[in-house]
Amino acid sequence: MVHLSRTQAHYIFSVMRKSKGDHIRLFNGKNGEWLAQIDFARKKQGVVRCLEITKPQQNPPDVWLMFAPIKKARTDFIVEKATELGVARILPLQTDFTNSERIRRERLQDHAIGAAEQCGGTFIPKVTDIGRLEKLLSNWPMDRFLLFCDEEKVGERVETKDLPKGKWAILLGPEGGFSEKERKYIHSMQNSFSLSLGPRILRADTAAVAALTLWQNALGDWR
Ligand code: SAH
Repeated sequence: MVHLSRTQAHYIFSVMRKSKGDHIRLFNGKNGEWLAQIDFARKKQGVVRCLEITKPQQNPPDVWLMFAPIKKARTDFIVEKATELGVARILPLQTDFTNSERIRRERLQDHAIGAAEQCGGTFIPKVTDIGRLEKLLSNWPMDRFLLFCDEEKVGERVETKDLPKGKWAILLGPEGGFSEKERKYIHSMQNSFSLSLGPRILRADTAAVAALTLWQNALGDWR
């Protein structure tokens, strides 16, 4: 039995126009996708019963996407595309040149849920609260590699074939790029690798899609 939240009940009964006895498919990000039947339907509440599993749980590879939030629509785009392309976690960052200091975490999390629904996924990447890049890097887990998308590498060969297998995080800067101090620190980190994304400077939202595509193709679950 699953008790629906107010927003879920509203969506299923008022928007999707489902009613008692109808079948829907459910996923919670952990237990795969299930066929379920609506047992109880009210405007703001509901109960559904799981009947059978229709898709096993499939988690993405352990890769994080770290980015500095930009304008709202572009930030939404990054969260949506990262979910579709497959990431384990999405971390908005404050950097020295971040354009937008605030995010609405829950809104972005809802966006990730919507994107997972849209692409038939069973996993929902967690969107964390905005954190300072400096702080994150100073407590960086030793067992996670950092893929630093560095606009100073623009024009260099795009090289992913020598990247080691393991846990990863992809790091993208804001429109203003990284400060010298940030760049120095990142270069000094033992497990960081710099990556060129080709001969042109990409906007952060394009860079997110390009970097994830390269990473997924080289090390992820696309192969
Ligand atoms: N204002 C910066 C560009 C920022 S683009 C400048 O003119 O240098 C936003 C982010 O996307 C960058 O911080 C970087 O992480 C990534 N990016 C964009 N194009 C890139 C490229 N060709 N190679 C590597 N990273 C790139």
